[in-house]
This record gives sequence, structure tokens and C-alpha cells, in this order.
Amino acid sequence: MIDLRSDTVTRPSEKMRAAMAAAEVGDDVFGEDPTINRLEGLAAARFGREAALWVPSGSMGNTIAVKLHTEPGSELIIEERGHILNFELGAAAVISGVTTRAVKSSNGSGHLAWNDIAPAIRKNPPYYQAATKLVCLENTHNFAGGSVLTAEATGEICERAHSEGLAVHLDGARIFNAATALACDVQELTAGCDSVMLCLSKGLGAPAGSMLVGSSEFIERARSWRKRLGGGMRQVGILAAAGIIALEEGPALLERDHRNAKCLANGLAAIPGIDIDPEKVATNIVIFDVAKAKLSAAEIVAKLKEKGVLAIGFGSQIRMVTHLDIADSDIDAALSAMKESVPSA
Ligand SMILES: *Cc1c(COP(=O)(O)O)cnc(C)c1O
Repeated sequence: MIDLRSDTVTRPSEKMRAAMAAAEVGDDVFGEDPTINRLEGLAAARFGREAALWVPSGSMGNTIAVKLHTEPGSELIIEERGHILNFELGAAAVISGVTTRAVKSSNGSGHLAWNDIAPAIRKNPPYYQAATKLVCLENTHNFAGGSVLTAEATGEICERAHSEGLAVHLDGARIFNAATALACDVQELTAGCDSVMLCLSKGLGAPAGSMLVGSSEFIERARSWRKRLGGGMRQVGILAAAGIIALEEGPALLERDHRNAKCLANGLAAIPGIDIDPEKVATNIVIFDVAKAKLSAAEIVAKLKEKGVLAIGFGSQIRMVTHLDIADSDIDAALSAMKESVPSA
């Protein structure tokens, strides 16, 4: 199977499995797991922050950040297709008691700009309205097709948000993909954000785990919330050993995924019935529209599966994601399967 459903499907490499088997471990709830401590130190250094915390999932990292940056009865602002709003089961409402204000991106990038955010802010509102406390950014933006937000644009939002008394959390599940596409360092790309969540378990290849990075004070409080949410784990160095390899060696491998995504997009654009602008494919996510094809997205996805290619369909769109376990030759095979699965109009 050529599995293009997500970059979460990557399997740990032989090197990761060997490191996991050999990992030095201890009880992390007592702060005694040397391997997780090393991973947290490496992540903090990589992002130029005081501290970092390993969390079992990206969703837990985002949930903890939202909790720490808000208070019950306040509000957060996010782009309307954001992961925190659409794919985390209302955790912001359930765990943090905050309402979420979805805002449309107006500049065609899929990302919010300050002039989208500013009108949505409720600063010192009348007593019957919830005050805005937090802006959540997402880089790359998953459902905006893996699009990137530049360091400059991120910095401007952070500066303005801070001057309005708002915190900024970055859902950087794929921040290394963004840094690769922009040819800049993650430190520069995330500098103004109060906290950053990044996933080790996607294109970087670890079997599980995400990191939350920020100030020492923030991470200390995050550690308590992780425990409260049931995320205090014991000999977690087993997973951290893979995480260290993901963090140290994964980023350099993302360029190939981006090349493959571009190649896939160019090939798709040449198939009648498929609507995609390959110019807009900046990282490893390829989203295209099949509204003009004779079959629905769901029917095309089912046909692809029969031919050994997995993708995800939603509405009239299909998403394909390149990753570590996708070879260059898989792209040609996926395109051939697509050509056979999309009957021309
Ligand atoms: C995958 C993802 C997350 C977190 O996902 P988990 O499955 O909980 O690890 C958060 N944000 C974005 C944009 C993602 O793609």
C-alpha cells in the first residue's frame, strides 16, 4: 500500500527501534528518566527557549497551552479551518472553558494576518461579553494545504497581539516543514510566540510524541496540567529515544517529501477533472478538488484503494500527504493509479 493519508503513518526506522531498545530509562513522574530529560533539553535548545515538555500527543500539547494562556469564560481567536477548532473535539471548551472565535483568512494564504485578527478582538469588553485572551496560529496550516506563514508575518502578529495584552500559541505540528520550505531556522520562525507545540510523530518519523516549548515558568505549569490530563508517564525514555532521532535527523529529510509533493501536484494538475494549483503546494500536503470529475471524492478514494493507494476524501476534495515512508517511485505509481481512477469528463 502507498499510504498518502497522512504523515502520521510513518513507522519507526530500524535505527529508532534499536535506540528505543537500548534507551536508558527511569520514572519520568519523578523526573528521573535521563532520555526524556535529554530530549526536552534538546528541544528547548533547538527552539532557543528556556524549557520544553514531552507530551503524548499534539492535541494534548495544544490543550495544555490553551489552558495556560486563558481563563474560563474568555475567548481565543483562530483561523476557521484550524486544527484546535476542528479536530480536537472541543477541548478548548471542555478543558479550558473558553469560546473559540473562528476568523476567515482574507489574503488567500489560508493564514490569518493582523488585519483579520484585529476586528475580532474583544479587549475590555462590556461585562456581558467574553474577553479575548489568546491567538492561535498554525504553521504549516494543515487544511489550508500545508501553506506556510513567514517569520516576518508571525513576528508582526505576535508583536501586535502582545501590545493588546494577548498571548500567541503556535500549533507547529509541522513547524519543521514550514522552516524547510522557507529555508529559515525554527528559532527565527517561532521567536515571538509565547508557546509552540511541535509533533515528533509526523514527518519526523517518531512513533509517538509531541513537544511543548516555552518559558521555564510556562513549562512547569504545563507539567502539572499534563499530569492532570493523565499524561504523566513513567519509563517514557523508550519513546524519547525515537524522539531524539526524529528531532536531530528528521528535519533534514523533509525536503525530499516537499519535492515529492510538488511532483505529485504537477502530475495531478495534468489529469482532466482535477483542480489544483501546484504553485500553492509549499510543503508535504497536497489537497485537490475533484468537483469536475465524473466520480465523487469518496468514489475516487475507494478506487484508489483497490489499486493500492490510500488517500483521504472530504467533500469534493482529496488530501494526499508525502512523508518518510514514501519513495520517489511511489509518486509515479500514485499518479498512474489516479489516472485510472478519474474517468475523464
Ligand atoms: C496532527 C496535528 C496536531 C496534533 O495531532 P495529534 O494527533 O494529537 O498528535 C495538531 N495540529 C495539527 C495542525 C496537526 O496536523
